[in-house]
Amino acid sequence: MNDRLSPGETIGILGGGQLARMLALAAARLGLSCHIFAPEADSPAFSVSTRATLGDYRDEAALAAFSASVSAITYEFENVPVETVRFLEGLRPVRPGSKALEVTQDRLAEKRLARALGARTADFAEVNSLDDLKAAIDRIGLPAVLKTNRFGYDGKGQAKILTAAEIAAAFAILRGQQGILESFVRFDREVSVVATRGVEGAFAAFDVTENEHRNHILHRSVVPATISGTAAREAIATARKIAEALDYVGTFAVEFFLVDEAGQVIVNEIAPRVHNSGHWTMDGAFTCQFEQHIRAVAGWPLGDTTRLGSVEMINLIGSDAARWHEILADGRAHLHLYGKTEMRDGRKMGHVNRLL
Ligand code: AMP
Repeated sequence: MNDRLSPGETIGILGGGQLARMLALAAARLGLSCHIFAPEADSPAFSVSTRATLGDYRDEAALAAFSASVSAITYEFENVPVETVRFLEGLRPVRPGSKALEVTQDRLAEKRLARALGARTADFAEVNSLDDLKAAIDRIGLPAVLKTNRFGYDGKGQAKILTAAEIAAAFAILRGQQGILESFVRFDREVSVVATRGVEGAFAAFDVTENEHRNHILHRSVVPATISGTAAREAIATARKIAEALDYVGTFAVEFFLVDEAGQVIVNEIAPRVHNSGHWTMDGAFTCQFEQHIRAVAGWPLGDTTRLGSVEMINLIGSDAARWHEILADGRAHLHLYGKTEMRDGRKMGHVNRLL
């Protein structure tokens, strides 16, 4: 199979949420088609893609039929089973590959990789039992954060431990799964680097983004971030080293805690996919993160990531999206709605970008 796709060819995407939807829209603009494979019937990406398969990630016959209809495959989120991606890798190029998925599904592996590359992380320890947790707290101290090692997102499966009295209750959140204890980082800001690596190793990062969370969900991103040039360069260099170590192809994000006084950037999490903190690039950069990902997956040259000005992205969560009409009253607001019919609490319904 050729490394480079031609216009008219089809990219397969595992997952059918808003990220897949925005990837499919970017692909369409470049004359490429998308075939979405997702288990949910109401997947927002289905309505904007050429083909859709409603299927289970463990159904090998369905996966084989899907792969036969596409030239390359990608995924829109990190909770796709690694076995699914390994199976597909035997049939078609999968970009990024299973190695990126394996590491980023595992917080311990992720932090070990960051440390091995010379980056800072919170202090951490593996927790497989209550005794492990107590020993980890003796070493790391309190406050600390206990997280399930795998399959946590938007703050789910996490407990902050302030005092020894809270240890047993915190341990219960693991529900028998492996955990990781992290020292509590007293950060000034949270920032992220969204970047893309091409098939032949080209690398292009967007400017560092500053992120504000509410109830563990991203609320607002702004660029440029309040960050020194040295810290910004370090964050981008760290992201590049991570991508190279994972032999990564596509767009990804690295989330950092920023401690101003010490001038430290501390790796929190790596996302092997386009990222909510990169949504501003749709209207605020020469090339957006979705197009960059499609270009990388297709084996095409990456675009220019230069920012067009100061940009703000605000997420529309749950009933926020009901304000769409009010948002449009500002003719310079770029409204993006994901076509989700049900407005559930905490559900990402859309976002608004503004050039400030
Ligand atoms: P995560 O799921 O690891 O991205 O964590 C979700 C959010 O919890 C982060 O964006 C931080 O605001 C907070 N958080 C997670 N880990 C830590 C930590 N070790 N120290 C301080 N805050 C944390």
